[in-house]
Amino acid sequence: MASAVPLKVLDLREQRYSCHGCGDCCRDFSVQLRDEDLDRLREQRWEERLGAPVTVEFRGRRYLRQQPDGACLFLQPDGLCRIHAEFGFDEKPVACRLFPFNLAPDASGVRAGLNFACSSVRANRGEALSTHRRDLDRALREVPEAATIAPPRLDRDLRAEPSEEHSIAEGLDAWLKRPGVPLSIRLDGFAWLAQSLGAASFAKVRGPRIRELVDLLVSALPGELEHLPVEPPGGGQRRMLRQAVFARIEDPRFTGDERKPSIRARLSQWNRSRRFSRGRGAVPSLARGWRLPEDFESIEAMPKVDATGETADLVIRWLRASILGGRAWGTGYYGWPIADGVQALALDVACLGWLARAHAAGEGTAAVDLASVAEALGRIDRARGRAVWLGSAGERLRLRYFAADDGLRRLVRANW
Ligand code: SF4
Repeated sequence: MASAVPLKVLDLREQRYSCHGCGDCCRDFSVQLRDEDLDRLREQRWEERLGAPVTVEFRGRRYLRQQPDGACLFLQPDGLCRIHAEFGFDEKPVACRLFPFNLAPDASGVRAGLNFACSSVRANRGEALSTHRRDLDRALREVPEAATIAPPRLDRDLRAEPSEEHSIAEGLDAWLKRPGVPLSIRLDGFAWLAQSLGAASFAKVRGPRIRELVDLLVSALPGELEHLPVEPPGGGQRRMLRQAVFARIEDPRFTGDERKPSIRARLSQWNRSRRFSRGRGAVPSLARGWRLPEDFESIEAMPKVDATGETADLVIRWLRASILGGRAWGTGYYGWPIADGVQALALDVACLGWLARAHAAGEGTAAVDLASVAEALGRIDRARGRAVWLGSAGERLRLRYFAADDGLRRLVRANW
């Protein structure tokens, strides 16, 4: 039965994707399961065959169990999925079949966006996105709640009309793709737009006036940035940024003992978090396979990201895809109001810059180049919209802190 809800595949002609079978999405990824997935796993009789549970409960949700190194239990040494190999593509969990796409319903349909944790998406390799429509339509039929009409909010209690949401998305997109503007200025302008939207009183500005407001803000760029210079971030802002990075790269392991994590595991996590906060001395592990920088000081000593050429193309594709593909606010981002979601994306830009500099410091390179930005983006975008703690009240408070006192702009400028 065809879904009555229109599916809008991300309309970004610059972006391509096909799976190249790297298996990266089966490593360090928590795969949340639906009831239908659990039924299928039961029918496949894995627990009898393997003699051990294949799922794990964590904070009231069910996930696929992982191997000790963070790889999915079903990931074989040849890099292929065992469920896929034995039962076929259609028998895998829905999340696995959808990745790197996500489905985000709003008032006018369901948007299919893209996750840049996928290396083929980052490298822009493969077919046009429209060629995946059939698979996405099929996945949509298996995710009935995606068909629930859910307009995003402008504010805590105000639902946005489709035209209002469209005005904001179009305005942001127009700025991001404006030709001839260096990436560092585009990102600074994006952080300024995020802060300005956060300060807007949407109870008084509705309908066509939202379009006027956004057009006014966007037309003021980039000139406005010169009139509003910002200081480098203060110590508190830098500390909070490192904490934000930690929250984005620290994933729980679903190896089976998370209901009673050992004291040692808890202490180790607490210790890593403290070291990130302090920002001095040895750096705890950043990501699987990454070389560690000597210390936090060597990260701070790295230059800003070399934001030209392919690096600029990658970062702008990611931001545009997040906004146009429904991953920046509303159902694609923890149900957050539009302005809060845009601010979270601006914070991710700052986190991405910091993490790319950390990667380059670990590699011992003099410049923060495309390879480091691509690696860092693979980590930052992995968690966004999925990790429950990034949608928490504490995270919203962190954003309020950053948005005050030009914190988002200051942190973006310090890293880009
Ligand atoms: S079930 Fe298969 S596709 Fe899904 S994460 Fe595990 S190995 Fe990858």
